[in-house]
Amino acid sequence: MSSAPASRDPQFYLDLDDTWCTHNYHPLPVVISEADGAWVTDVTGKRYLDMLAGYSALNFGHSHPALLAAAKAQLDRVTLTSRAFHSDQLGLFCKELAELTGTEMVLPMNSGAEAVEAALKVARKWAYRIKGVPENQAQIITAGGNFHGRTISIISFSDDPVASADYGPYTPGFIGVKYGDLEALTSAITPNTAAILLEPIQGEAGVLVPPPGYLAEVRRLCDEHNVLFIADEIQSGLGRTGALLALDHEGVRADLYTLGKALGGGIMPVSAVVGRRAVLGVLQPGQHGSTFGGNPLACAIGRAVIKLLATGEMQSRATELGEHLHSRLTALVGHGVADVHGRGLWAGVELSPEVGSGRAISEEMARRGVLIKETHETTLRFAPPLVITRDELDLAVDTLAAVISAARG
Ligand SMILES: *Cc1c(COP(=O)(O)O)cnc(C)c1O
Repeated sequence: MSSAPASRDPQFYLDLDDTWCTHNYHPLPVVISEADGAWVTDVTGKRYLDMLAGYSALNFGHSHPALLAAAKAQLDRVTLTSRAFHSDQLGLFCKELAELTGTEMVLPMNSGAEAVEAALKVARKWAYRIKGVPENQAQIITAGGNFHGRTISIISFSDDPVASADYGPYTPGFIGVKYGDLEALTSAITPNTAAILLEPIQGEAGVLVPPPGYLAEVRRLCDEHNVLFIADEIQSGLGRTGALLALDHEGVRADLYTLGKALGGGIMPVSAVVGRRAVLGVLQPGQHGSTFGGNPLACAIGRAVIKLLATGEMQSRATELGEHLHSRLTALVGHGVADVHGRGLWAGVELSPEVGSGRAISEEMARRGVLIKETHETTLRFAPPLVITRDELDLAVDTLAAVISAARG
């Protein structure tokens, strides 16, 4: 039962958005009206291959049948109870997510930023109640180039001026160090350090992988100084890199993980903090909450996502297809591409200066039927749905090669 769009003219929607929607994004001029798997269709009927996958919120593609079935079944039962009551979905969701991630407790939230905020609150409370940091003195170490969301506290430790300018005064208690720099991290730790918050691979920064051994050493430093390791796996987690969690590649465990994006299957916002009982256990009734967090619809969808990940099939696809993607992209280095990095089905492609802006390349790729988006000026992010095929990946890379070659003249 699909209803026809109000108009078949993309300009109709561009004008509406321009007039009525706050201009806090700069979208490509593509007006999507339907989507399935790795493909989306615009209001004119033109089809595009989706190489962004909702910034990894769509790891399992659009309209995944198992996820839609779970959502539709739950819609007919009960969608919201609030946490004033129990539901027959919440506990199972938390148990299954804890078992999947090898953790002991789950704090359900909605957006990624909310999960990060919750993890920061828990880390501070743990520092005061368990570690014994003097009142209001807790410090949390963060990394340069980070992206953890858009709330006031989170942008307070962003070093991207576009994200933080004009939003002061900023939340104190955060110490920024260079990502991947162990010396800087070591010297930033004090007796008042509650936690180190890191993305195991920095997504928005351009899919940046830290130096080998870095994350294991972060873990060791945390153990040595009784500091929590908070891994923000909102973008890197849930299959994207070829493992359930990006940290798994390093054999490293965090004390707390933030999960989001793909946890909601691209259907609704579902996020969570998962981790050790000794840490999440500091929260008592009333000390944190969310009206929608852990609602039955979110939990039913989340449980279907967990089921997809539990077989390991998505992770295997990301590994195998990721090797193919990286080898094809790496072959473009020296031909308009300066560098390729990333892991699994996730790549940052740095364009050479002569190619022009990532925006212009993204626009031309969209004209040719491939959706991709730049992050910062000159990096393109490849994060296709994990259900994409090898031929479809080839189509995307061939299109990139053709567009770059045309741009170089
Ligand atoms: C997207 C993202 C967030 C924020 O998630 P929202 O749902 O947009 O609030 C936080 N951390 C990382 C690593 C992300 O990629």
